[in-house]
Amino acid sequence: MPRSERLFKTQAIILRRYDYGEADRILTLLTPDYGKLRAIAKGARKLTSRLNGHLELYSHVALLIARGSDLHVVSQAEQLEAFLPLHGDLLRNAYAHYIAELTDRFSEDEETHTPLFALLNAALGWLCAPEADLALAVRYFELRLLRLSGFEPSLFECAVGQEPLMARDQFFSAAEGGVICPEHARGRAAQPLSLNALKVLRHMARTDYEAVRHLRLTAALHAELERTLGSYLLHLLELRLKSVEFLQQLRMRLL
Ligand SMILES: [Zn+2]
Repeated sequence: MPRSERLFKTQAIILRRYDYGEADRILTLLTPDYGKLRAIAKGARKLTSRLNGHLELYSHVALLIARGSDLHVVSQAEQLEAFLPLHGDLLRNAYAHYIAELTDRFSEDEETHTPLFALLNAALGWLCAPEADLALAVRYFELRLLRLSGFEPSLFECAVGQEPLMARDQFFSAAEGGVICPEHARGRAAQPLSLNALKVLRHMARTDYEAVRHLRLTAALHAELERTLGSYLLHLLELRLKSVEFLQQLRMRLL
């Protein structure tokens, strides 16, 4: 945070937004250089406001911000990328909500988060792609988020004994921070992890999204990956994400 300047420019992605007072909005923003910020956009809900239409949820914006002691003030806003498909499709919207909430939980106020900003910006784009496997895109986002946060799960060595993992079915332990072999899984809280799921996780860990997005996974494999990474994320957050529940409820309605 540039302490000396009262006004500063930044790019941002809008993680959360809620109405405040008569016509204001309070925003939670992720910025590349200043981390997570909270800012008020005064009068933003008035149709005549210069800010109106430039501060949509999940959009990538360029802002001029006046520094405040608690809450910053959005002085000017320009939309750079609206990610419109996220607003026209319930499932895309729910996934965008989920990754924005995960980002919120894993980011710190006013700390530099340039790689996380780049990841979130890319992932919102992945969720907009017409033929995207949305669940696969979100799993990839989760794994990259874990890496950036310093919680990358151990996928190549047993998280307990550190010996290389053999090509067979294994276990996953959230408490141990990754995959553990059947021998070390005895007496420990761990869930089974198939060799196929381990292969997909390793592929995702090693390659960029472009090389991953064409994978065709069975519903069972999707479910296993979601369960595995989900249990690990929940363990790390120590509380159930509201958006996970929301997504589960939404799925139950759709399927
Ligand atoms: Zn082991």
